[in-house]
Amino acid sequence: SMLHGADYTVEEMVGGDRDYLWHHIKPHQCFQTQEQMIIVAGKGLTVTDIHGRDYLDATSGGVWCVNVGYGRESIAEAVAAQLKQMSYFAGSVGTIPTIKLSAKLLELLPAMGKVYYSNSGSEANEKSYKLIRQASAIDPARKGKYKILYRDRDYHGTTIAVLASSGQAERKTDFGPFPEGFARIPHCLCYRCPFALRYPACDVRCARCVEEIILKEGPDTVGGLIVEPITAGGGIIVPVDEYFPILQQICRKYGLFLVIDEVVAGFGRTGAFFGHQHFDVDPDMLTLAKGMASAYEPISATVVKQAVYDIFLNDPADPEKRLNFFRDISTYGGCTGAMAASLENIRIMEAENLVENSRVMGDYLLDRLKTLADHQAVGDVRGKGLFCGVELVADKKDKQPPSEAQMGAVVDAAKAAGVLLGRTNNSLPGFNTTLYYAPALVITREEADRMVAATQAAIETVFGA
Ligand code: PMP
Repeated sequence: SMLHGADYTVEEMVGGDRDYLWHHIKPHQCFQTQEQMIIVAGKGLTVTDIHGRDYLDATSGGVWCVNVGYGRESIAEAVAAQLKQMSYFAGSVGTIPTIKLSAKLLELLPAMGKVYYSNSGSEANEKSYKLIRQASAIDPARKGKYKILYRDRDYHGTTIAVLASSGQAERKTDFGPFPEGFARIPHCLCYRCPFALRYPACDVRCARCVEEIILKEGPDTVGGLIVEPITAGGGIIVPVDEYFPILQQICRKYGLFLVIDEVVAGFGRTGAFFGHQHFDVDPDMLTLAKGMASAYEPISATVVKQAVYDIFLNDPADPEKRLNFFRDISTYGGCTGAMAASLENIRIMEAENLVENSRVMGDYLLDRLKTLADHQAVGDVRGKGLFCGVELVADKKDKQPPSEAQMGAVVDAAKAAGVLLGRTNNSLPGFNTTLYYAPALVITREEADRMVAATQAAIETVFGA
């Protein structure tokens, strides 16, 4: 291979990583002072670095993508076979894998009617906004309803409009001005209730207050609401059971499209095929990415109800039906290799019962993590399926966050013990200091035990026993 052959020495690769590559979401300074990890191989939940060291990956590739685990030859083969036969044509025409994958997704999501492809979670969400906005222009019943509500702590992507509608203030700093037409609703994390109330006495105020926000914005101007079913990067936040039915009822009352961002929660991550299936809710649009092809290839989709599609089919301002389409295109929405990867990925999930394993092993992992809850630095342990969070605190009483250095030290200690833990990004004071566990859905008990043991040891190293 390139690494072990004559082309590059390990030293050259390490130097190249330091000198040429602009890494994502990492303080740049660390490259000047310390060699960073370079991954060269993966199998199951284990990745191997350039020095031959193995790590158990609790993060499915850092950002909860690799749901079927690393090293799936059948996905590589499915992609290769498809690329040899027919690699690409723009999404204005059908291809065998785009048709087959759409049929499969709609079989899994029987309430939905159409599938629109793009390449990233950001784009899939942005399409939902463009659908809401174009619908507010062409559908007399939705005239002027262009605004979109989003939730504090949720994240919907990196480009400017989806960032405008992301509830993680620390990611938005320096990138304004943002486009208009977005308004925020409160988060739903009980541990840090935005209203300082207690469930169930709170009467789920975080959901009910959405009505007040719509009335304040003007119901004639609000066309949609986007939320994650279970918030990922904002701290692994599982809403209470009443939450979604209340949102649903408010959306129906005021004619908002309910968009559920399944970019992380989809494809078995939370112990159901899709995250929203845990709740009594019937969304108008869903966005999918990450686990859709377990990141073997980049692919995303915006999946909508037939009624949404029909608005564009029947545009009354366009009786000749020449411009009656969603005026959008995504070049790589026609990459057939990505569709083939997704189809094989879904086949594996079904053949190996990975959604069920996510539910069973998720319960096990959460139970084991809860044994850490008595530690002075563990504020809250929460999750659903193979999607768990351990929120660390400096002080249990006032829930003050640990320092950035302490958070880093916990992750570093686990890594030194051979386990890659995730942590929610950045350090918004008092909030975003949650370790996360989103392992591949093929995880065994023994692997889960190792993650918990490494977490416990790391916390004790940094905060004392
Ligand atoms: N939605 C959610 C919930 C996400 O976590 C992410 C990425 N972390 C995105 C959307 C954006 O996806 P992408 O990075 O593929 O654009």
